[in-house]
Order: sequence, then C-alpha cells, then structure tokens
Amino acid sequence: MLKASDFHRGVERLGELIAEARVIVPFTGAGISTETGIPDFRSPGGLWSRNRPIPFDEFVADQDARDESWRRRFAMEEVFAAARPGRGHRALATLYRAGKIPTVITQNIDNLHQRSGFAADDVIELHGNTTYARCVGCEARYELQWVKTRFDQEGYAPDCSVCGAPVKTATISFGQAMPADEMRRAAEMSQRCDLFIAIGSSLVVWPAAGFPLMAKRAGARLVIINNEPTEQDEHADLVIHQDIGETLGPFVGN
Ligand code: NAD
Repeated sequence: MLKASDFHRGVERLGELIAEARVIVPFTGAGISTETGIPDFRSPGGLWSRNRPIPFDEFVADQDARDESWRRRFAMEEVFAAARPGRGHRALATLYRAGKIPTVITQNIDNLHQRSGFAADDVIELHGNTTYARCVGCEARYELQWVKTRFDQEGYAPDCSVCGAPVKTATISFGQAMPADEMRRAAEMSQRCDLFIAIGSSLVVWPAAGFPLMAKRAGARLVIINNEPTEQDEHADLVIHQDIGETLGPFVGN
C-alpha cells in the first residue's frame, strides 16, 4: 500500500490506475459534497453535532417527529438548492463521459451526481434522494413544494393524498430497509469493476461500507480518498488523505 504522504505522487499514481482500468466504479460519501456547501455527518460542525437522527419507526409513529423532520429539511433547503457539483463530481462526470465509469454508487442524497451529468439510471443511490418525497405506504412521489405548502397552511406535516400514510423525503432513514434493487446492482458493479474508488466516506455506515472490500476481494484495485483515516485504509492499494477537490481537480475535463 502506498501511503500518499507525497500528495503529488499520490495523484500521479491515481492517474496511472485510472489509465490502466477498464471499468471504474466510484463509491461516494458526504465528503465529496462538502465543498459545495452541504455539510457531512461526522466532521466537526457536521449535521450530527447539531441534530439527533430520527429513526424510521419514530417518523412513522409520531406526528411530532414528522413535523420536526420536515422542519429540519426545510431549514436545509437553501443549502441543497444552492449546491452545484464540485470538482469531485465533475471529475467523475468526465470519466463517465469518457466511458470509463458505467455507474456511480453513492451514499449521498443530494442529487449532485445527476446534476453533474450522470443519467439518473447510472446513479445507484443507496440511501435515496432528499430532493423529492415519497409516501412510505404506496410510494407515490411528491415534490418538496407540495409538502411545504401544506405544512405552511396546516401547521403540520401532510399525509399522502392517495393512501393516507406519512410522506417522507425519498431517503433511507436509520431503521428503514435498504433498497433491494440498488443493493443488488451495487454488489454486481463492485464485483465487475477493476478499479473501485471510495471518495469522501468515513466507511462506517453499514451495509454500504461493505462494497469497497467486496470489490477488493473480487480482484479490483481499491483507492480510498478521504481527508481522515478510515478503518479500511489498510486494505487499499492507494490511500490519499487529502481534500477531494484538490485530489480530483486535475481529472476534471471540458
Ligand atoms: P460521513 O459524514 O460519515 O463521512 C464523510 C467523510 O468525508 C469524513 O470522513 C470526512 O472527514 C470526509 N471529508 C469531508 N469533506 C472532505 C473533503 N473536502 N475532502 C476529503 N474528505 C472529506 O459521510 P458518509 O460516509 O457518506 O456516511 C454518512 C451518511 O450521511 C450517508 O449515508 C448519507 O446518506 C448521509 N449524508 C449525505 C449528505 C449528502 O448527500 N451530501 C450529507 C450528509 C450526510
């Protein structure tokens, strides 16, 4: 394993691994989006230092929990709406256009891979998407504005107008089942690639954090880019403990 204490050598080595690879699968976490203004969970000042997560069962059972959850989401709307793809997103979109990346696996919920140019079908969202909402019962889709208008009018979070079940951002909360199709596709791509790049994830949220090792065991080279160490660094062929924008900036094309 090359510890990239020499940052430039690390980026150079990353370039070589990218050039040699036929199928690259990136796996992204909140760290790829921090330069766009969206905070991550675990860094100092991250979302968890401010708010306790609301588990799925509590959301479904308790109107107050739903109201609180939606208040938090609306409070973040300015940040999500203003965010534009960062250098990390744009570098991956460049490799996608070049045919090197078939699909990105992401834990993020911010829609920024799609906004950088990935077709929606080529973004495997393990934890869903916060830029729209779904009924937890019949899965009817709602836009956030629909929820906001009713919340403002009635003073509490609305239920589904089709089946009456609660409406939640289209994300996977703690205690909620992982999306089966996305998990299957992510496993398939992890085992099909010859280069797997984990970018901006603390690699502690399971089962998503299992994919880097799954790829490694299936024979892929593993790169980890994160500004702090992860528990999986020892398994990687290249580890770059540096800012993602700085590291991937050189790979942004036109
Ligand atoms: P995490 O907060 O656990 O880890 C993010 C990692 O990125 C940290 O180790 C941090 O040190 C690193 N990092 C932050 N900014 C960086 C930068 N500029 N350069 C290099 N490294 C940087 O996030 P996670 O592993 O993705 O898991 C937490 C869950 O958080 C995810 O499942 C996701 O659903 C949710 N989440 C998503 C968003 C988003 O969509 N943007 C934001 C916050 C949380």
